[in-house]
Amino acid sequence: MAKKRSTQSNPIAKKKQTTAWHTLNERIVACRSCPRLNAYTQRVAQEKRRAFLDWDYWGLPVPNFGDPGAALLIVGLAPAAHGANRTGRMFTGDRSGDWLFRALAKVGFANQPQATDIEDGLRLHNCAITAACHCAPPDNKPSREEISACEQFLAETIDLLQPRVFLALGQLGWQATVRHLAASNLLLADSSGKIRRPKFAHAANVKLQGNRYLLGSYHPSQQNTFTGRLTEEMLDGVFLEAQRLLHE
Ligand code: SF4
Repeated sequence: MAKKRSTQSNPIAKKKQTTAWHTLNERIVACRSCPRLNAYTQRVAQEKRRAFLDWDYWGLPVPNFGDPGAALLIVGLAPAAHGANRTGRMFTGDRSGDWLFRALAKVGFANQPQATDIEDGLRLHNCAITAACHCAPPDNKPSREEISACEQFLAETIDLLQPRVFLALGQLGWQATVRHLAASNLLLADSSGKIRRPKFAHAANVKLQGNRYLLGSYHPSQQNTFTGRLTEEMLDGVFLEAQRLLHE
């Protein structure tokens, strides 16, 4: 991985970075590498859910969302069939997004907690959201091959942003991120001199090469939030830690 370039004070570098971000997003949206997912996202977009019959569903791969100069990169699993696959923006229009953007707004990574559609005025500051899989999968379960096919976009997103802090939401987002970190030689050796792949846990905090960090959080899915496995305080705690690390 190349050294982080500072684009904040250089308008030409900032413009180049923004252009590269948009180009990458266009390629993600145009991708048709996973026939099962491409067919499913389009079918959901045609059939719709009763509550959203008046919506013109997105029905395509969902691009990255956020600040093209972000130092915090959130890695989720995949768009929800009637959430981001409907609205066309990561975590927008579902309960997981309600939790995520509320937490982001609380610590200043987002300008508002509401995320309803792409024209709702939501902006992220120093934070971007990507996913291990950019297409909504049946039962929220992408296959290993589909995650593997999408890892090229995760790698390109990371290479473009060169984030200081990675926050993986859930086990699969964590594993995809760790694979990239291992391939990029960003994992540090432990006290015995061995480089081991860190295990996922809520509030996991792993120091990486180059003063970077990998944080873990339970995914704010209803499965976790309805059961109390993930509370608002637990999610807030992870973002407070991300903010603290960025200010170190
Ligand atoms: S999951 Fe990723 S690789 Fe597969 S079609 Fe969607 S964008 Fe392309």
